[in-house]
Amino acid sequence: MTNNLVEIKNLEVIYESKKNIFGNPQIIHAVNGVTLDIKKGEILAIAGESGCGKSTLAKAVMKLISSKSGEILLEDKNILEITGREELKDFYKKVQMIFQNPYSSLNPKMKIGQILREPLEINTKLKKEEIDKIVEEKISKTGLDKSSLNLYPHEFSGGQRQRIAIARSLILNPEFIIADEPVSALDVSIQAQIINLLKQLKEDYNLTFLFISHDLSVIKYLSDRIAIMYLGEIIELGNTDEIFKDPKHPYTKALLSSVPELNPQNSKEHIKLTGELPSPENLPQGCKFHTRCPFVMDICKKEHPQETAFSPTHNCKCFLYG
Ligand code: SF4
Repeated sequence: MTNNLVEIKNLEVIYESKKNIFGNPQIIHAVNGVTLDIKKGEILAIAGESGCGKSTLAKAVMKLISSKSGEILLEDKNILEITGREELKDFYKKVQMIFQNPYSSLNPKMKIGQILREPLEINTKLKKEEIDKIVEEKISKTGLDKSSLNLYPHEFSGGQRQRIAIARSLILNPEFIIADEPVSALDVSIQAQIINLLKQLKEDYNLTFLFISHDLSVIKYLSDRIAIMYLGEIIELGNTDEIFKDPKHPYTKALLSSVPELNPQNSKEHIKLTGELPSPENLPQGCKFHTRCPFVMDICKKEHPQETAFSPTHNCKCFLYG
């Protein structure tokens, strides 16, 4: 028996980009052989620079884009094989997504009450009074008054709209929520409120989260484990404490060195990465970080590093460790 809710195995996602000068489309390797488990009840964060593939990974798990190969098991069922309408409906009852932009993710022509009722009307046979009860419960849980249900999205602030989007994500009682940069479009003063709300909802509804963010301060506060992603690959994985107290991969160390610390004694010297970031159409051989790594060795340019484990929960891919 495993306590994994989701198991991603060797997942690959590619895109075709614009044609090159010879008229051939170029292939972008956005996700390259990602293998990752998400345990029931945890918040697993994916961190990395913009363009590293973290949002593509989220969309692949949500079945919003197709994957080239690999498996994504949700409770032992490979969701990449789901095609039938009823199976898809079942899938979207269990898995929901919160998007970055609360301005574009809510239909401006619908009142909030309609937005929240719609998934229940489509996916269940509940009576009107039962639907009303669920809608009122979910809007209250996200900190908004019931009177909000009679208003349109444009009548709310960005933070309030994100609360509505969160209420909608909860309406079908999902088990698993994918949150893709859910606070990065909000004012800093509002971000903490939304992060605390997500934390509370996770406890109240026993949720599991895949949390995508470029902001390591937010990730440190919210997540149980962190996967660091670079050019479509997970290059380090560990519990939040392990990653923040003892990062191993040179890329992770560079990322963490830019996180501001409240206590200046804990501040790390800022590591500025030099060297070129390879384009995803033309990934380098060997370790993909070798063009920017201050510790690069000959072997790094030829061979791909395998995983080294530092504890049952912490590992990284780097030749410095084996
Ligand atoms: Fe740097 Fe080599 Fe480790 Fe890659 S494998 S991170 S290039 S030392």
